[in-house]
Amino acid sequence: DSETKCAQNVNIIEAKNSPTIFDRILDGSIKADIVYEDPECLAFRDVDPQAPKHLLVIPRRRITMLEDAQNTDQELLGHLMLVVKKVAEQEDLTDGYRVVINNGPDGGQSVYHLHIHLLGGRQLNWPPG
Ligand code: IMP
Repeated sequence: DSETKCAQNVNIIEAKNSPTIFDRILDGSIKADIVYEDPECLAFRDVDPQAPKHLLVIPRRRITMLEDAQNTDQELLGHLMLVVKKVAEQEDLTDGYRVVINNGPDGGQSVYHLHIHLLGGRQLNWPPG
């Protein structure tokens, strides 16, 4: 109902204005299993893997969610996608893989720092849950 939607919106505003766990991975105060890094981004293993290989690629500069990306982010977003490809090669995902961005509550986004999921190492189902 509209009250739930309103509460949800308040939560998103709160989430967008608060630091996330990924800030702490980026500044090194929380350990992550980093598999790739460059001046623009970082790739590391998801702590709660949903497939034999589950990695996250994140930009160092925070974009809270895909819907907040700007035209000026075009180059960075393209770069992230190519890094996903590179990491997939590095992880030997030769039989294929899936790339996912969860956006907002209905998308199941829980960390409000844009990240690309890379999943592979098993046959993935479609449609996802
Ligand atoms: P989302 O649900 O699309 O926002 O994905 C957030 C992902 O971050 C989830 O798959 C979590 O398991 C993962 N995650 C949360 N905290 C950590 C962490 O400290 N290290 C690695 N992955 C994390």
